[in-house]
Amino acid sequence: MSRVFNFSAGPAAIPDTVLERIRQDIPDWNGTGMSVMEVSHRSKEFVEVAEKAEQDLRDLLAIPDDYSVLFPQGGATLQFSMVPLNLSSKGQAVDYVRTGSWSKKAIAEAAKYCEVNVVADSEDRNFTYVPPQDSWKRSKNASYLHYCANETIGGVEFPFIPDSGDVPLVCDMSSTILSRPLDISRFGVIYAGAQKNIGPAGITLVIVRKDLLKKARKSTPTLLDYSTYDESGSMSNTPPVFTWYVAGLVFEYLKSRGGLESVARTNRAKAEKLYGAIDASEYYTNPVQADCRSWMNVPFILADSSLDSKFLADAQAAGLSNLKGHRSVGGMRASIYNAMPEEGVDALIRFMQEFERANG
Ligand SMILES: *Cc1c(COP(=O)(O)O)cnc(C)c1O
Repeated sequence: MSRVFNFSAGPAAIPDTVLERIRQDIPDWNGTGMSVMEVSHRSKEFVEVAEKAEQDLRDLLAIPDDYSVLFPQGGATLQFSMVPLNLSSKGQAVDYVRTGSWSKKAIAEAAKYCEVNVVADSEDRNFTYVPPQDSWKRSKNASYLHYCANETIGGVEFPFIPDSGDVPLVCDMSSTILSRPLDISRFGVIYAGAQKNIGPAGITLVIVRKDLLKKARKSTPTLLDYSTYDESGSMSNTPPVFTWYVAGLVFEYLKSRGGLESVARTNRAKAEKLYGAIDASEYYTNPVQADCRSWMNVPFILADSSLDSKFLADAQAAGLSNLKGHRSVGGMRASIYNAMPEEGVDALIRFMQEFERANG
């Protein structure tokens, strides 16, 4: 087996041990003589997998009992609609922080259903920072306050959890969930697509405080109503069984690494090393305000952008894949999610230094 270091922003790398386990399990899962994709989601075997995945996630994030864990489909993008449909009534004000591409999309979708008030906007500096909370202009009676904890494209991460008072705090955590411990009790709803830090695309994680259930608008389609998932263990219709099973393996893997405290130590070390190397060089730059730099997505540009394609080709030849930045920002982006080992970051830094020596 020949594996590269995969710096893709998503779908992103999955831990080698998890892939190996899937490979072993596929033909004859759990002694059933079938793969996990071929068994009923209501079978005892699968229900055990689903329940264990939820329990492991609850252990990892210390999710309090007054929160439900839901596994809908549709990715984080469908949550851009489900959040307003479930938490607000028609014409009601909702507050959003605008810090980059993903929060912009969330705002555009919410605007179909509610009066969106943008409480703060960092476009004035090209989305390279998080406006401090004391500058935010909140509505008097918003039904919730929404933000994106980590803007995957810009590489901007909130260095704080906003204080929303009595208003439910809603967060898109697609690209930072499980990167470190989290105080769930600060939130009304947390959601995340799977394909960054959880597993393959196709399942979505929603953690919702139970008092926020059963508030969906009457016209909300059944499968867009959080309480449908809450009441059926996310099995009101056929769930993505394979993805759910892989997510469960990833949660087991994170526990085997010693839980999120230990995962966070490695993530911090990886990020510090990479930003350190960028800052120490005259050749590479990262535009993000230092205290808002993402642990998971590290964009950087070369002093000479005409060498971008050479950089990417040489990196690929050195076993470092998917470093191309998002088309909206250009340059490079190294996504260093949980599954990226520290050796991958070390290899990237060595490569960057050699490339600078040869071409800088
Ligand atoms: C990837 C991503 C999304 C979109 O996720 P889908 O699962 O493709 O819908 C939304 N928000 C953030 C922060 C992301 O990183």
